Amino acid sequence: MTESRQVVIVGSGPAGLTAAIYASRAQLSPLVIEGELSSTSDQPGGQLMLTTDVENYPGFIEGIMGPELMQAFREQAARFGAEYVTAKVARVDLSTRPFGVWTGDPEVEVPTYAAEALIIATGAQSLMLNLENEERLIGYGVSTCATCDGFFFREKEIAVVGGGDSAMEEALFLTRFADKVTIIHRRGELRASKVMQQRAFANPKIAFLWNSSVVDVLGDTVVTGVRVRDNLSEEESEHPLSGLFVAIGHEPNTSLFKGQLELEDNGYIRTFDGTRTNVDGVFACGDVQDHRYRQAVTAAGSGCMAAIDVEHWLEDRHDGPA
Ligand code: NAP
Repeated sequence: MTESRQVVIVGSGPAGLTAAIYASRAQLSPLVIEGELSSTSDQPGGQLMLTTDVENYPGFIEGIMGPELMQAFREQAARFGAEYVTAKVARVDLSTRPFGVWTGDPEVEVPTYAAEALIIATGAQSLMLNLENEERLIGYGVSTCATCDGFFFREKEIAVVGGGDSAMEEALFLTRFADKVTIIHRRGELRASKVMQQRAFANPKIAFLWNSSVVDVLGDTVVTGVRVRDNLSEEESEHPLSGLFVAIGHEPNTSLFKGQLELEDNGYIRTFDGTRTNVDGVFACGDVQDHRYRQAVTAAGSGCMAAIDVEHWLEDRHDGPA
């Protein structure tokens, strides 16, 4: 049977949970469909669950661990009455209001929830190199999450692919465990912010393999090395390693909405006038619609905007003609 809800929030990173805090304080009784546990950022709490120290979230002088921050967001929203369902959304129908939201079997006729307004905060997740052996060896030495898997690489030699802030952050964290961390980057200069570059350059456990691309991951049952192509000479070489961390960026979690919502060319949800989407009553916030700032604090800010936009939208609708 379908459960009717005024506001359903899909996703529970900083954007979704901030929307939940604001919506619950506005007495809109939001239901947060928070996702399911996974080894990627597509899980309750979102990308911050894969982060260690968050030093740039305002209010924490000494920084805070990502999972701890998300737990605090979650409990804060719960305190005002937000409810959670630990499930993934399998299907949505945005063609009529109330909107249909399915968890579980997407083939059943009736939706699990009928939502008058929907806030999409499904975030983004890690990009992969798309190598056959990379996929095969995920969880067996290939990882996208230093926080989750770093512990398994104590006193080992490992590599991180990428040249952005994520790659630097992962590499720096991994030096707590590994003897040596090689950052493999396809160009001769990093994309990461200067402060993160400086930290990586200053760490004696971090080495760099410049102008290099991983073309294969080696190992039968666990990672034993990588094959790397030098992008200048085109020569290939093998490097023995116990682990490979892929940190090359993210893509938005928008597959549920394709064909139903207007997306930008790069797949992110297009928003107008705050957090409105092209479908009246559907709002989007956080990384699923932001490929520019992608910070916890900007995601949280846009979650606040979405809740306020929903509140106004519901008020206008109820005051206006039936
Ligand atoms: P990013 O800035 O987009 O960097 C991705 C990196 O991966 C780039 O160096 C890129 O190379 C490389 N790359 C992309 N596709 C590749 C491929 N197929 N093969 C090999 N290399 C590939 O992504 P990000 O590092 O995840 O950061 C995203 C945003 O979050 C940024 O705005 C960043 O500042 C922010 N962030 C901040 C922090 C922090 O402040 N502590 C931590 C993490 C992320 P090219 O450089 O050649 O394009």
